[in-house]
Amino acid sequence: MSRLGPSSPPESRVRAILRRLRVAYPEARCSLDFTTPWELLVATILSAQCTDERVNMVTPGLFRQYPDPQAFADADERQIAKAIFQTGFHNQKARSLHGAAIAVLERHGGKVPRRTEQLVKLPGVGRKTAAVVSGNAFGRREGIAVDTHVGRLTRRLGFTAETDPERVERELMAIVPRSAWVEWSHLLIWHGRAVCIARSPRCPECVLLDLCPEGQSRVPPARSRRTP
Ligand code: SF4
Repeated sequence: MSRLGPSSPPESRVRAILRRLRVAYPEARCSLDFTTPWELLVATILSAQCTDERVNMVTPGLFRQYPDPQAFADADERQIAKAIFQTGFHNQKARSLHGAAIAVLERHGGKVPRRTEQLVKLPGVGRKTAAVVSGNAFGRREGIAVDTHVGRLTRRLGFTAETDPERVERELMAIVPRSAWVEWSHLLIWHGRAVCIARSPRCPECVLLDLCPEGQSRVPPARSRRTP
């Protein structure tokens, strides 16, 4: 078997990266707490510019106060904003939640739509949120959620030079097997939190070092790992 390296074909590196990260993070999953598609939609909207941990601290109280789309639609936006204050950008997010609740009621009979193309038409819902909800609440693989971790790691791993999340997603969709579209985001997010952190990636201890152009430029060539 030929040895993989940072300049091996992207599809081969993607497969090796998936194998290794599955071993490193067998528990990788969506970090947002939810029990229904609507709760995941709300949590994902709240997670913009906010950690999942903080969102998970806010949502239990929020869902007690507003248990379903009807309750959000009936609520005053200012009251919603107060309840989500800790997640930041609370006025903008309250507007999105209120608008999304009304749209879900008026256009979808109170049920969150399953398909990305319908989800992105809801107020405050972009491709990332749509991919998270479609993938994690409905098990559909219609896109790859590109958040700050996924974007950063995808660039460091040399799969794209793009910074626009939608362009990064398009490039990933061309090389990541469709069966792994949802998993890819989870694994990269967990790796981005644990090892490939934004300010100072821990390349010497990274299981992807020998496959990563950025890592190779940061660590002397003597340090290498065998291709499984
Ligand atoms: Fe990130 Fe370094 Fe690992 Fe590459 S080798 S994925 S830059 S931690």
